[in-house]
Amino acid sequence: MMKNSNMEKIIIAIDGHSSCGKSTMAKDLAKALGYKYIDSGAMYRAVTLYCLENGIFIDDEPDLDKLRNAIDDIRIDFIFNPASGISETYLNGRNVEKEIRSMSVADKVSPVAVIGFVRRAMVQLQQAFGKDKGIVMDGRDIGTVVFPDAELKIFVTASPEVRAQRRILELKARGDKGVSFEEVLANLKKRDFIDSTRSESPLRQAEDAMVLDNSDLTIEEQNRLLMDWVDQTLQKNNA
Ligand code: C5P
Repeated sequence: MMKNSNMEKIIIAIDGHSSCGKSTMAKDLAKALGYKYIDSGAMYRAVTLYCLENGIFIDDEPDLDKLRNAIDDIRIDFIFNPASGISETYLNGRNVEKEIRSMSVADKVSPVAVIGFVRRAMVQLQQAFGKDKGIVMDGRDIGTVVFPDAELKIFVTASPEVRAQRRILELKARGDKGVSFEEVLANLKKRDFIDSTRSESPLRQAEDAMVLDNSDLTIEEQNRLLMDWVDQTLQKNNA
């Protein structure tokens, strides 16, 4: 891959369905290029954790007035942990990297992410992270809303069954063994549906995005494809 410190830095926006490997891909790309990596989903998950911990949910829906009053008190930071090699998510100064990946948060995050004032606050923060470029960000609306001028946009997808299987392995590796395939599949399908049909920044492919369906790709094949796209974009950008 081309990597030259004199090169103009670009923004890489990675969007797509839940659990199709966007974060791993984005992290690896950022590392290879020496760029920052921001997981925008972690931000919506952190807001959701805040809601769960502060009695903002009434059954399955967040209380909008309470959340509106609280939104300015929610501080989200990413701090690089050299031991794990990743940027970890902090909610008001507390490391919540593990908690935000739990099923209880995954279950409640979509109704929080449909709220306009939540999205506006997150998008503002995301754009600030990207102001000097040299960033890879993954999410649902990065190429369409957050960075519509990103030099490289990638839209990732895979079949729901393949994604559920990968998610199960991930949860098991984390010690979360009590979750069934059916439960994970249902959660993924529900999130896909809410994410794609919401009126605020729905998940959709940007017109100028490269589509990556990785249902039947090995990691090596996927990486080769990605590196080609990055090289082509860098060459075009520095021509
Ligand atoms: O990417 P991840 O699955 O961690 O995201 C969690 C949830 O946050 C998604 O299901 C979606 O509802 C929401 N999200 C979003 N916009 C983004 C990133 C995530 O609405 N840019």
